Amino acid sequence: MISRTRRTFIVQTAGLCAALAAGTGAFAAAPLVDENDAAAKTLGYRAKATTVDAGKFPKYQAGQTCSNCRFYKAGAGESSGTCPMFGGKAVAAEGWCNVYAKLA
Ligand code: SF4
Repeated sequence: MISRTRRTFIVQTAGLCAALAAGTGAFAAAPLVDENDAAAKTLGYRAKATTVDAGKFPKYQAGQTCSNCRFYKAGAGESSGTCPMFGGKAVAAEGWCNVYAKLA
């Protein structure tokens, strides 16, 4: 028989997992940044890092993507997440912009 304390812990853990799952979904709910938005153009944002205009944005190096940028926040396995450069929008995990900073 499960003790009351253990049962309470299990119920609370299940609730926490549900809350975290809901939180993860929130990252995906924001609309994706449009590459043609003024801010996106200014920062050289591309949803696919491999399509960055390296002539215009020479800072870009192969392998750099939002998913390995320190500003990117997303749940595990999400294809998009949030970035403070684009408040209220989602950036693609495979994206890139000129503010890129390698995740430490
Ligand atoms: S700052 Fe980083 S996470 Fe944000 S759009 Fe640029 S590369 Fe992506």
